[in-house]
Amino acid sequence: MADRPIVVLFHRDLRTEDNPALLSASETGAPVIPLYIEDNEAAGDWVIGGASRWWLHHSLVALQKSLEALGSPLVLRAGTSVDVLKDLASSHDIAAIYMSRGYEPWVRSREEKVHEAFASNGVEVKRFQARLLLDPDHIRTKTGAIYKVYTPFWRALSAKGARPPVAAPEHLKAPDTAIESDRLENWNLLPTKPDWSGGFTPLWQPGSPGAAQRFETFLDDHLHNYDELRNRPDLPGTSRLSPHFQFGEISPAACFETVSRIHADDKKRATGAETFLKELVWREFSYHLLYHFPHLPVAPFKEQFNDFPWREDEGSLKAWQRGQTGYPIVDAGMRELYATGWMHNRVRMIVGSFLTKNLLLPWQLGEAWFWDCLVDADLASNSASWQWVSGSGADAAPYFRIFNPVSQSERYDPDGDYIRRWVPELAALSKKDIHAPWEAPQLALRQAGVELGVGYPQPIVDHKKTRQRALDAYEEIKLKAS
Ligand code: FAD
Repeated sequence: MADRPIVVLFHRDLRTEDNPALLSASETGAPVIPLYIEDNEAAGDWVIGGASRWWLHHSLVALQKSLEALGSPLVLRAGTSVDVLKDLASSHDIAAIYMSRGYEPWVRSREEKVHEAFASNGVEVKRFQARLLLDPDHIRTKTGAIYKVYTPFWRALSAKGARPPVAAPEHLKAPDTAIESDRLENWNLLPTKPDWSGGFTPLWQPGSPGAAQRFETFLDDHLHNYDELRNRPDLPGTSRLSPHFQFGEISPAACFETVSRIHADDKKRATGAETFLKELVWREFSYHLLYHFPHLPVAPFKEQFNDFPWREDEGSLKAWQRGQTGYPIVDAGMRELYATGWMHNRVRMIVGSFLTKNLLLPWQLGEAWFWDCLVDADLASNSASWQWVSGSGADAAPYFRIFNPVSQSERYDPDGDYIRRWVPELAALSKKDIHAPWEAPQLALRQAGVELGVGYPQPIVDHKKTRQRALDAYEEIKLKAS
């Protein structure tokens, strides 16, 4: 066995640290073939969106460097996973396929297919746990049921703790003969016509080194007041690690371990540390839901929402997508998303509430737009969060808690600086007028060079009226369900 190579199939675990599949393969002493397959057929409706493709390109470049330094270069192949693996098995007599377990329905099905194709052919197929703190099968209520509410899930997980992370391999033995690989450039992951990624480059450094650096900076500069500032989109209060987690460039288990230690040992950062651990567990909870309820990305968790009277309104959807709703905080968020591939969590909740409640458009439309635009687009967190926002999810906010975009803006962007940054046509308005320019005195608008309906839109809907419309729609499905 020691001379027959082991394939390590990478997917959303694009790192060499705390990658149990990679470490175990290296420990056998066999040659290791690190492989990434671009299998768009298996992904089906969940082929990654444009922003994530940009990220993936750069992340693969970083992984290539790390693997080369360890001794065995990354092999890239596009095609159906089983076919690619069969091809490698016949050309290189592979002994085993190791991979990190995935939780998305299509990834689980791909793993099953690989298992079926090889298990009886003398090729060992082994799955390892790398992407989560704990495997979803290992966390159940006392009665063996599945958690559907976050707080008891958090309690159970924090009592159990995360799995212990493993070290990176010191060296990887390469196979004797070089293995043919696609050229990454030929996968066309980067946008060209037009190239909309100009705003991404200064902000992000995809890959494990970038992730480690961001984590360090966050621990040193922001963790101490994370609890206080994490809801402020105008300040750099959160970690912005989400795309690094999504592509597996940093290990959640290793982060959990580090932050748990800070929580125990460092009084000044203990509160921030606990809040951060809870956020990591929100990610985990989303995966838990997706794993046990695989329809989460497409159908409402609460069945009564099957009858919800969603509207069709292409014009309003376009205005929302382009950041032209006339509600400055909503428009700032949607423009930040388009320009940088990321949006602050508080603003995601505000724009989500606006789409599903004020515009009464189906949450799946928001989910799809985010899927295409986010560098951290994650099937579990995106679908669980959209369902949470729309009220149809497990443990969702009560439906009647409809965000008021103006008071949210006043509270979380008190000086209006976040709006000024992303909606420059309103930049000269005072902090009093910037949250609801339609209520500003004519003179203030004129002095700030703002002409509503010309340079910046009038609000496309009235909050009060549309709030009532949403509540009425909710009453309708409640009545039907009773
Ligand atoms: P931090 O505040 O630094 O949190 C640390 C980490 O905890 C994050 O990187 C993330 O992995 C996790 N986390 C934090 N909040 C949440 C949450 N509410 N749910 C799940 N995990 C969380 N997150 C994604 O990673 N991918 C998505 O596709 C996604 N879509 C979302 C859609 C909507 C409508 C909403 C309301 C939220 C969505 N989120 C998504 C969750 C959250 O907004 C982001 O994880 C967070 O903004 C990332 O920024 P950060 O890394 O600075 O977070």
